[in-house]
Amino acid sequence: MATKKFLLQEKDIPTAWYNIVADMKNKPLPALNPGTKQPLNPEDWYPLFAEELVAQEVNQKDPWIEIPEEVRDMYKVWRPTPLVRAFGLEKALDTPAHIYFKNESISPVGSHKLNSSLPQAYYCKKQGITNLTTETGAGQWGAAMAYAAKAFGLELAVYMVKISYEQKPYRRSIMQTFGAQVIASPSMSTKAGKKILTDNPQYMGSLGTAISEAIELAIGTPNCKYVLGSVLNHVMLHQTVIGLEAEKQMEMAGEYPDIVIGCFGGGSNFSGISYPFLRHKLLNGKDIRVIAAEPASCPKLTRGVFQYDFGDETGYTPFIPMYTLGHTFAPPHIHAGGLRYHGAGSIVSQLKRDNYVEAVDIEQLDAFKAAVLFAQTEGIIPAPESSHAIAQTINEAEQAKKEGKAKTILFSLSGHGLIDMAAYDSYFAGDLLNYDLTDADLAKSIAPLENIV
Ligand SMILES: *Cc1c(COP(=O)(O)O)cnc(C)c1O
Repeated sequence: MATKKFLLQEKDIPTAWYNIVADMKNKPLPALNPGTKQPLNPEDWYPLFAEELVAQEVNQKDPWIEIPEEVRDMYKVWRPTPLVRAFGLEKALDTPAHIYFKNESISPVGSHKLNSSLPQAYYCKKQGITNLTTETGAGQWGAAMAYAAKAFGLELAVYMVKISYEQKPYRRSIMQTFGAQVIASPSMSTKAGKKILTDNPQYMGSLGTAISEAIELAIGTPNCKYVLGSVLNHVMLHQTVIGLEAEKQMEMAGEYPDIVIGCFGGGSNFSGISYPFLRHKLLNGKDIRVIAAEPASCPKLTRGVFQYDFGDETGYTPFIPMYTLGHTFAPPHIHAGGLRYHGAGSIVSQLKRDNYVEAVDIEQLDAFKAAVLFAQTEGIIPAPESSHAIAQTINEAEQAKKEGKAKTILFSLSGHGLIDMAAYDSYFAGDLLNYDLTDADLAKSIAPLENIV
């Protein structure tokens, strides 16, 4: 049998992250102060984020940013991750396409999120910060942040979207195992939560709401910073270890991807797998398609608008230029909790505007169907989020078959689904639905946006 797994050694873990902004002709628009509509100064971010993370956030000049040795040491716990040729899936699809996936599910918390939680905790610690706050949707980011906070000796409070708090009790236990405090959001512990709960006591929460709560706690607590698991530029930067390793591994396989696919929540695993390859397109005009697979129930890239919007529901964050469904958009309760976010990061939004990035919508039932086929052919139960990338990979492999072309497809397996079996249960019981969002539904949260761009 041909080689299935492409493995690197510790010495091959990247020594620098790739900052794609340095190579973009059209830079992302600046974040704005929502009051004055003036571009933010780096210092304006300091109440929320560690200074080194802010420096990374606004860096438009350096394509390579060194990974601190302490962070690289922690990466060694599970990196480099394998690149796998999905022979089983190829055979089941009877496709001429070659399918590869980068397996980020082998991290100690089961997802790619640790790639950014570790450096974020490290830079906060280095600055003398003692406490962190954050939010989590499905619990993946909270788990990754809890692990990282413990690794660098910081206290962490996590606001967990209430629907996930109830549907995914084991992620809550994982965070508690690593020593984090977990609070269901919306909660009565913040002004933002109180307002939402008194307006709508049944509200089961959203990432936007949980972010508002975490920010409010961080701003009101001395020596405390807020950390975010996606959307922001510095998070995308940290995740490029995925694609940088994959680049070397595709070389080992003697191939170059025609298509790179990632599922899309706020854009971090998608950016991580794709930016190192997009680099060749930006610099050398390499012909490659890069596709973001988002849930049809939260379609910011395909049906949202490009506009300045808040990153959270209440409006505590700066104005960020993004494809958005409006910060008050309340996504249906699909099981891919990590994809239930109203906006896209500003780098990926600019790349989409400039046609470097394509986007597709995947229905919930198609994602689960793809997940089951992948599990049965490759032996890994994927996270419901990652299953969106698998579904699009299958679409492309079927297209390749129709065209009789041997395309090479690379996708990011952002996490495993072993703690999401309740979602699989609902799928097998026939209880899961697709959600049809009408244009009128979307207009409700999009219409109120200020016209700034
Ligand atoms: C959080 C998460 C996502 C979505 O977030 P991105 O920032 O878009 O990557 C996707 N997959 C898994 C497994 C996640 O935990």
